[in-house]
Amino acid sequence: MFFGYFTKKDWAFAALCTAFIVFQVYLDLKIPEYMNGITYAIQTGDASDIVGEDGARMIACALLSLASSVGAGFFAAKFSASYTRTLRRKMFSKVQELSSQDISEISAASLVTRSTNDPYQLQNFLGRSLQVIVKSPILASWAILKISGSDWHWTAITVAGVLIIVCTIAAVMWCVMKYFKRIQWLKDDVNREVRENLTGSKVIRAYNAEGYRESKFDEASDALLDNNLKIFTWMAPMGSTSNTVVNIMTISIYWVGAMLIADAADQDTKFQLFSDMVVFSSYALQVMSAFMMLTGIIRGFPGAKVSYGRITEVIERERGVPEGSFDGETSETGTIEFRAVTFSYPGRKKPALKDVSFRIGKGQTLAVLGSTGSGKSTLIKLILRQYDPDSGQVLIDGRDAKDYTRKALYSRLGYVPQTPIIFTGSVESNVNFGETSASRDHGDVLRALRIAQAEEFVSKLPEGTDTILSQYGKNVSGGQKQRVTIARAICKDPETLLLDDSFSALDFRTDRELRAGLKKEMAGTTKVIVAQRVGTVMDADLIIVLDEGEVMGIGTHSSLMESCRIYRDTAISQMEERRCRPEDRRGPPRRSPNRSGRPSGSC
Ligand code: ADP
Ligand code: MG
Repeated sequence: MFFGYFTKKDWAFAALCTAFIVFQVYLDLKIPEYMNGITYAIQTGDASDIVGEDGARMIACALLSLASSVGAGFFAAKFSASYTRTLRRKMFSKVQELSSQDISEISAASLVTRSTNDPYQLQNFLGRSLQVIVKSPILASWAILKISGSDWHWTAITVAGVLIIVCTIAAVMWCVMKYFKRIQWLKDDVNREVRENLTGSKVIRAYNAEGYRESKFDEASDALLDNNLKIFTWMAPMGSTSNTVVNIMTISIYWVGAMLIADAADQDTKFQLFSDMVVFSSYALQVMSAFMMLTGIIRGFPGAKVSYGRITEVIERERGVPEGSFDGETSETGTIEFRAVTFSYPGRKKPALKDVSFRIGKGQTLAVLGSTGSGKSTLIKLILRQYDPDSGQVLIDGRDAKDYTRKALYSRLGYVPQTPIIFTGSVESNVNFGETSASRDHGDVLRALRIAQAEEFVSKLPEGTDTILSQYGKNVSGGQKQRVTIARAICKDPETLLLDDSFSALDFRTDRELRAGLKKEMAGTTKVIVAQRVGTVMDADLIIVLDEGEVMGIGTHSSLMESCRIYRDTAISQMEERRCRPEDRRGPPRRSPNRSGRPSGSC
């Protein structure tokens, strides 16, 4: 609800703005009363004092009205800025909570426009329109009250004028609403094209695809242009229609007035009628101006309504994966268990994981091996509870992952995503990251970097751990980024480390040393290592071999070499590959791996 998001401050700003507006309307409507006295006095030719006195009062009213208008404008601006800030904040914290499923449903491009452009649109509209929305009805009803006792001809003319304006506004709005609703969505499309062009600029250039990308951008941009042109075409006649109606109305009031004056019996009545006419037309103009002001802001209304809807759609969105409530102690620590877990991504028929079961205990290493698309990252996502399984159970420390609060769950896990994420800031701030960062010091950061095999390259950076990494880590290589993100998870010292293909950009030697370091220095930490290289997983306590979501084999390296054909074939083919790379070769090459033992030359 719109008012539901008001903070106390917002209520105070809105109340102050309304108070100034009421005062301003009172003053504006007082002016014609003095005008009545002055017109009558001038006609009858007496009491020049009245002219001076009422004139001074009129000027005072006008000045005070101006001051009130400034005050109302000030508080309207304060209100709109404060209100949209509340919405922006709520949206920001909601986005942090959303699961990756939610984010991909809304789309990242749309979330960007929803957090920047939409609040701006809303703020702009509220800032400009709050005064009008409050002022117009007060002004119109107050002015109507003041003229209600006048000649019925004049009242009829005013009512007709108002009806024509209201009908015109309603008709135009009905026609353009659909175009207004489209604007923000079309802006999302333009935003997406710009983002893709920026992030993919190197690839676009390398493929000489500038023309193709430009035509895609033009498409999105032209759709927005066409839509906006349609709105302007419809809205253009509105201003001139209102002006014409006001002019015709004024002429009609004077025309009727002239006839009434001509028919009047005596001079005094004529004078009075003339004053009434001047005052009436002035009030009638106030009524019309109230509706015309509404016309002005009604143009912005559909857009603001759509923006407001887009913002609240995010704020009020229920998380796809609801949070549990457990945050106490568990009987076990560092255990991960899957019980017959099957999961398909929304909208996909084929399961990404099918009937997966395993259990690992504290300090053990689980390795997940499989080709691209075999479901390895999906398995990690289920531990992280980015999704819930369709059937079966994921247990962490002996409890269903669904039971935990988000905080309790993530405090147990150290996650290294497949694509390294670096935040703008120093190496230190990237490694010592998150809730527990205050309890860790520089020594912990160095230790984490050492285990992650990042110590050497970080020490060679211009300012060591204080070197600023740019957004997306553009000033370091892929393997270096991976090691910084691994160090981040190690520094957190979690119960369980989840490494999603985090060794893929490392050379064989670094891969081996990193694993040795993890084994030695993080002996009490459970590790889930996703990899595509047999060499990376062979030391694990338990290896799961996945293929298209199905478990092809589960066991230790030696048992899988015996029992799992895919595993054995992968091991042999990777051995052959390595033998052709002299820089990775250690010791004399052998023609074939020892079937039950370790493949030669790997680790
Ligand atoms: P891996 O990490 O082994 O390369 P993933 O676990 O990422 O594989 O993906 C397994 C399967 O699920 C793939 O077929 C992939 O296309 C599909 N998949 C992955 N992410 C999504 C998603 N967000 N929506 C729909 N399908 C997905
Ligand atoms: Mg993956």
